[in-house]
Amino acid sequence: MNAALVSFIRDLYQSNEFIPLHAPVFAGNELKYVSATIESTFVSSVGKFVDEFEAKIATFTGTAQAVATVNGTAALHTALYLAGVKSGDAVITQPLTFVATCNALYHMGATPVFVDINTATLSLCPQALAEFLQQHAKTDDDGCYLKRNGQRIRAVMPMHTFGHPAALDELSQICQQWQLILIEDAAESLGSFYKGRHTGTIGQFGALSFNGNKIITTGGGGMLLCATEQDGSHAKHITTTAKVPHRWEFYHDEPGFNFRLPNLNAALGCAQMERLSYFLTQKRKLAMQYKTFFADSAYQFVDEPAECQANFWLNAIICPDQQSRDQLLQSTNDAGVMTRPVWQLMHHLPAFKDAMRGPLPFAENLAQRLINLPSSVSELS
Ligand SMILES: *Cc1c(COP(=O)(O)O)cnc(C)c1O
Repeated sequence: MNAALVSFIRDLYQSNEFIPLHAPVFAGNELKYVSATIESTFVSSVGKFVDEFEAKIATFTGTAQAVATVNGTAALHTALYLAGVKSGDAVITQPLTFVATCNALYHMGATPVFVDINTATLSLCPQALAEFLQQHAKTDDDGCYLKRNGQRIRAVMPMHTFGHPAALDELSQICQQWQLILIEDAAESLGSFYKGRHTGTIGQFGALSFNGNKIITTGGGGMLLCATEQDGSHAKHITTTAKVPHRWEFYHDEPGFNFRLPNLNAALGCAQMERLSYFLTQKRKLAMQYKTFFADSAYQFVDEPAECQANFWLNAIICPDQQSRDQLLQSTNDAGVMTRPVWQLMHHLPAFKDAMRGPLPFAENLAQRLINLPSSVSELS
C-alpha cells in the first residue's frame, strides 16, 4: 500500500519533487489586483477591494452580510463577542479541531466543553450533544446552564472538518430547544454546502478563513458571515474600532477591535474568488481519484456526508489502526510526499486539559487513525 500510494500521488501531481499537503495557486488576476492596490497607495484600511471581496463572498454563500477580518480567528472572536459570550461562560465545541476554535473562546474568557464527533461528518455529533445536554444542562427563562456549577452555556460551535459539513439541521434544532446560539467554524469549508445551503450560513454566525493553506487565500484573512443585517452592521462597526463616521472627528461609541482586512489582502481575495469554482471542480476530481484508489482497501476514504457537497479541502483517510497510520506517515514523508496526522485533540493540550467533556470515543479513535493526503489543486488532476 505505502509504495503504491507514493507512486499514485506522484502520478497525480506529475512530480518527482517534494509534494506539499496544500499549496496555493495564483494563476489568475492575483498579481494584477495586488499591483493595483500598490499603485493606488490604498493598501491598508481604505480601498475598494474590501467591499468587493465582502460582496463576492456574500453572493457566493448567500449570507445576509459578510464582514472581512484579518484572519479566521478574528472572525470567530467577533462572532463570540456578538453572540454575547461573556467571561465565565461555557461554549460547547468538538475536541477534534484546529486550536483556533478554542483560542477564540479562551480569549473571550469562556471555557470550552468538549462533545464527541461522529464518523460520518468528523464534526460535532448531534446525538452526543443531545445526550450531554440532557445529562448535564438545565434551562430556565433566560438560558441554558450547567447543572453542576450553574455556569452559563451560551453557544455551540461545530467545525466543518476538512470541509465536510456537520449535521446542521439536527444541531440547529438542538440549539433552539436549549436556547443556545449556533456559531459555525466554517474556516475550512468555503464551497461546502449542507442540503444546498452554504456552510456558515445556517447558524447565527459563521467564520471563514483565508489563511495560506485554505481553499482560497488572502495571505491571512477571514470573513464573518452574519445571518442578520443588524449583526452584520454591528460586526462591521466593532471590527473597525467602532468609529462613528465623520469627516474629521474621532469618536468611538464602544470598545472596538482592529480586525479589518487590509485592502492589499482583499485584492488577493477578489482574484482568488474568481477561481473558486475551478478549484472546487479540480478538488472534487482529485478526491474521486483518491476514493477510487482506496476502494476495496483496508483504508477508508473520508467521503462527503449524505445530502452534502464538500469542498474536499483536505483529503483524508482512516487507517485500520495506529500502527498502519504511523507506517504510512513514515514512508510517505520519507519519500517526499507530505502527509499528516490530524491535530492533537484539544483536551490533550495544556490549556484545555481540565475542560469539561462528555465521552469522546470517536474523537479518540479517529485521532489515532486519520491521515491527511496532499490536496493542492493541480492543473493536471
Ligand atoms: C484555519 C482555521 C481557523 C482560522 O485560522 P486563521 O489562521 O486565524 O485564519 C479556525 N478554525 C479552523 C478549524 C481552521 O482550520
